[in-house]
Order: sequence, then C-alpha cells, then structure tokens
Amino acid sequence: MTDNKRDYMTDEIEEVTSETEQIKAQAQKGRSQKKKRSKRNQNQKLSPDEVNQMFAACARCGFFWAAFRVEQGNEVMETAVQNMKAGWLTLPWNQKMRLLVLKSYGVRVDIDYFHVEGICPDCRRRFSYQQSETEGKPDLFRIELKPRVPH
Ligand SMILES: [Zn+2]
Repeated sequence: MTDNKRDYMTDEIEEVTSETEQIKAQAQKGRSQKKKRSKRNQNQKLSPDEVNQMFAACARCGFFWAAFRVEQGNEVMETAVQNMKAGWLTLPWNQKMRLLVLKSYGVRVDIDYFHVEGICPDCRRRFSYQQSETEGKPDLFRIELKPRVPH
C-alpha cells in the first residue's frame, strides 16, 4: 500500500488510517473478515466502510448516505466519519442536502426554519438541522450513526 508516503502529525491518525487501508484491502479481497470489527462502541473510531454498512442497512438511510457521498464526495464523507462525536455525524449543509432530506425522509427543511428534528420512518435513525446564528458560518446537519431500535 502507499502508507509510507504519508506524513501525518500524530501516531493516532496514522494508526486509524492504516486500519482503514486494511479494511479497504479486505473489502477488495472479499468480505470475510469484517464481522469482528462491528462490535466496537461508539467512542471508537469507525472506518468509512463500517459507517457505509450501517446506513445501508436501511433503504431510506442507505439512499441518503449514498446520495450524500455522490453530492459531496468521499473526502467530505471521510472527514465526517473521522469527526464523529458520541455517535453523531455532522455533515455540511447546502441546498442539495435540503432536497436530499426531503427525498430520503419526507421531511421538509424550509429556508426559514431555524431548527428541525426528524427521524427515519423506517429505522428510526434521528437527524437534526440547525440554522447558523452567525452569518458566514455554515448551517449544521447532524445524523445518528445507529438507529434507535436494537438489531
Ligand atoms: Zn433509516
């Protein structure tokens, strides 16, 4: 792999990155060794692959997540996964996200709404939108990594 070329600031990031590379390599080989990684708690770092699978478990959330990745790119998605806090992902908001939330969940986030909370009708994954109070600062959209219901 190309890990050695990278020059990261801390060992921690390097470790996470090489884990991610391993998972990607495994994914390319076949899906054999994935299961053992899925039991980690929410405070530990997850790979983008693991997050993808959690969203893919629900048709609506899978659609939302796949379209988000197409719209904003894998780099944005990976940053969101790395910055995940307490089981919530924060995603950059824009007009396309507004449409995407409507298409995925049937929830309308109008331009003059200040705060919207929603829930996936199928898996009960929660999400929230918060309009920025400061001009120039982006609006915030957060979505839960895991749905509320067990299994
Ligand atoms: Zn869902």
